[in-house]
Amino acid sequence: MGALDGKVAIVTGAGAGLGRAEALALARAGADLVVNDVADTDVVAEIEALGGKALLVRGDVSDADTAKALTAAAVDRFGGLHVVVNNAGVLRDRMLFNMSDEEWDLVIRVHLRGHFLLSRNAAAYWRGHAKANGGTTYGRVVNTASEAFLFGSEGQPNYAAAKAGITALTLATARGLAKYGVRANAICPRARTAMTAAVFGAAPAGVDPLSPDHVAPLVAYLASPAAERISGQVFVVYGGMVALLAPPTVE
Ligand code: ADP
Repeated sequence: MGALDGKVAIVTGAGAGLGRAEALALARAGADLVVNDVADTDVVAEIEALGGKALLVRGDVSDADTAKALTAAAVDRFGGLHVVVNNAGVLRDRMLFNMSDEEWDLVIRVHLRGHFLLSRNAAAYWRGHAKANGGTTYGRVVNTASEAFLFGSEGQPNYAAAKAGITALTLATARGLAKYGVRANAICPRARTAMTAAVFGAAPAGVDPLSPDHVAPLVAYLASPAAERISGQVFVVYGGMVALLAPPTVE
């Protein structure tokens, strides 16, 4: 028995990196997957190789039709929707004084509008489902924020602003949908992926770089029934770097 047997999950940006690892972790826990990416991906075959079920919906998450197609695929193909993992993202790094309108708009659009569109559609589905089923339902949202919302991030004013918005959206989702049985949390992962490698640079001495496989179990947990009393929280996943901040001085 997996913790997510009988549950249906959507993961955006699941073609590579963090989203792929998250989709595989949810499939291992027993969920049926609707995966999304703009790029080509083998993730459906990988999920099927695990014995899981998956369907790919190609498309841009900042396009309303993609969000619609994702929720429709979950309900029509797998009979419902229980988990939404908003992960798709892009970087257009530039110092503030050089940033173009297009670089600003694209990053805000893909991250913030992307999170909004799918969250809204899932929320509408869950509210309807709750009303038809005695008032509550099963809904889990895991959003992808970043510690950049708190500390800034050099050369990423667009990304930091989008992640601040996503954090606030997560809290609003948690508060607004709690009564329907929906839980919403955000993760701030510092995982090394194709997208983030250039930004994070080398890991500090003594610390193995955090891989997507270190982050994915947290997402599977937050998606699970066990996380039923956890909502409106922001989880920073730093991968042991905190140990370097305060080396022990007492035996
Ligand atoms: P990370 O795993 O750190 O989020 P990656 O580059 O590894 O970064 O993964 C981000 C994923 O999101 C990629 O697979 C990328 O193709 C996908 N992606 C980028 N933009 C969009 C978009 N507009 N809609 C859907 N997926 C997207």
